[in-house]
Amino acid sequence: MTAELEAQLRAVSLRVTRPRLAVLAALRDHPHVDTDRVIALVRADHPTVSHQAVYDVLRALTEVGLVRRIQPARATARYEVRVGDNHHHVVCRSCGAIADVDCAVGHAPCLTAADDHGFVVDEAEVVYWGTCPDCATDGTSPRSASPEGNE
Ligand SMILES: [Zn+2]
Ligand SMILES: [Zn+2]
Repeated sequence: MTAELEAQLRAVSLRVTRPRLAVLAALRDHPHVDTDRVIALVRADHPTVSHQAVYDVLRALTEVGLVRRIQPARATARYEVRVGDNHHHVVCRSCGAIADVDCAVGHAPCLTAADDHGFVVDEAEVVYWGTCPDCATDGTSPRSASPEGNE
């Protein structure tokens, strides 16, 4: 699996370094985590990797497209290695849990703009907001999950 990560770095002309491999491996195993969690995951295996190194690696990997940065409104930025497929996210308003949602219908951008103003649109960024199953069942969510809104 490490060989695969090394190949990904080489494909975008980035040097293979231990912090880069560690960040990619952490995100492969834990999608949609924020920077603090990435740091904790990386340092669990590689205690000598500094916070700043993780910040730098996340920025570099995002710039070359190996990592996707998602930032739901009012939430901290999350990172994932599932890139380039225009998938969307469903986010829990209560606990911030995030799950992947494949294209709603058809191929990217899978949403047809009412007026594209002549732009060639190839991507749509959508965040579905709601309540995750855990929060819906423990009754602490601010809104009922029932479509009628009953308590
Ligand atoms: Zn939740
Ligand atoms: Zn995702």
